[in-house]
Amino acid sequence: MKTLIPTHLTERDKAVNWHPYTQMKTAGDAVPIVKGKGVYLYDEDGKKYIDAVSSWWVTLHGHAHPYIAERVFQQLNTLEQVIFAGFTHEPAVQLSENLLNLLPENQSKVFYSDNGSTAVEAALKMCIQYAYNLGKEKTKILAFKNAYHGDTFGAMSVSGRSVWTKPFGSMLFEVVFIDTPNAENLDDLKKQIGELAEETACFIYEPLVQGAAGMLMYDAKHLDELMKFCRSEEILMVQDEVFTGFGRTGKLFAANHLTEMPDIMCFSKGLTGGTMPMGITTCSQEIFSAFLSDDRYKTLFHGHSFTANPLACTAALASMELLLQEETLTAIDRISRQHSDFSKTLSNHPDVENVRQTGTILAFEYKTNQNTSYFNEIGKKLYDAFLHRGIIMRPLGNVMYLVPPYCINAEELDFVYETILEVLELFQN
Ligand SMILES: *Cc1c(COP(=O)(O)O)cnc(C)c1O
Repeated sequence: MKTLIPTHLTERDKAVNWHPYTQMKTAGDAVPIVKGKGVYLYDEDGKKYIDAVSSWWVTLHGHAHPYIAERVFQQLNTLEQVIFAGFTHEPAVQLSENLLNLLPENQSKVFYSDNGSTAVEAALKMCIQYAYNLGKEKTKILAFKNAYHGDTFGAMSVSGRSVWTKPFGSMLFEVVFIDTPNAENLDDLKKQIGELAEETACFIYEPLVQGAAGMLMYDAKHLDELMKFCRSEEILMVQDEVFTGFGRTGKLFAANHLTEMPDIMCFSKGLTGGTMPMGITTCSQEIFSAFLSDDRYKTLFHGHSFTANPLACTAALASMELLLQEETLTAIDRISRQHSDFSKTLSNHPDVENVRQTGTILAFEYKTNQNTSYFNEIGKKLYDAFLHRGIIMRPLGNVMYLVPPYCINAEELDFVYETILEVLELFQN
């Protein structure tokens, strides 16, 4: 197998950069990317790679999309940034209007931040302070086992305890973790939640797909049941659509698969089409109203320097325009159908198990004699094999998944499928 020849950029990188989720002692050379166009990324040697993971699940319409670039360029020449306390601007107002139009009808207000983790932090603070402002003692939080909501301390606290959170274990606040719902355990889950309802501020969950846990999936109808129960027990619901939002699940939002409505929603990743960092937390009028007071202590004291940055808002506006075009919605359907067909092939493969799919997200496990886990050693070998063949996949241990940009065409996606089958042969058990 070809090892990438260290280039100028790679060497310079090694001297100065500390990469995310990377053991810098054993990591291979970082691939020096110089250009992106559509579904492809190009390295220094001109080799091109299909970005089958949308650059960590963010890219929707392909790299360096000319329409988004043009809109951001114009905005950059008009207004690049303004403090969002006491001031406002057209891109933020328009984006809030457009987004709220697409969300469940109870979503009424938009709070801006910088990324998925901060969108979650703001949501948690809204829930805790909602109870505080109403003079209620509610500080317990419910979350799913294996959840992932981000890497800041609050977001880590509501994420499942794992190797990622271990060094910080004693610093994380307590959270009650429950199983994801299925036909068998629903009654039991309701009982568990019912017993804690009095003290519980909120329930936070990734709807339908637990992404970072390895694309674990569960049914909308069971989540609906759980949500209905939380509603009846007056537990606030925080729906983290940081990953599932903007078409990933085959519909615009995971919310579109559900009949129950959450109180708060979190967005990031695909929000700007993957071009600029931005987070959004939306909430119902009821939540917002609990912060309206002559008592200044009831204010939500939270904000970031770049809150509602006009460039990021403009990128989001442009990306959402592209997303709602007939062509994109058709592509999302087509990718979902192609995934579904390929799932059947995979399900019959002797080295593959637990094939699962929700819309444009496809995941399956490579059978090994080690446990399914993030540290399963096959992950690195698979990663290298795909990279060598011009495809960027980032297996979570032995869990392989595809989350392609919507601009991937049928032939390119078929090439990815064929390569998966070829690589599976290579590592045949
Ligand atoms: C990625 C992710 C986050 C964190 O977003 P960042 O922008 O990486 O901080 C939060 N929730 C979910 C569901 C995610 O997938």
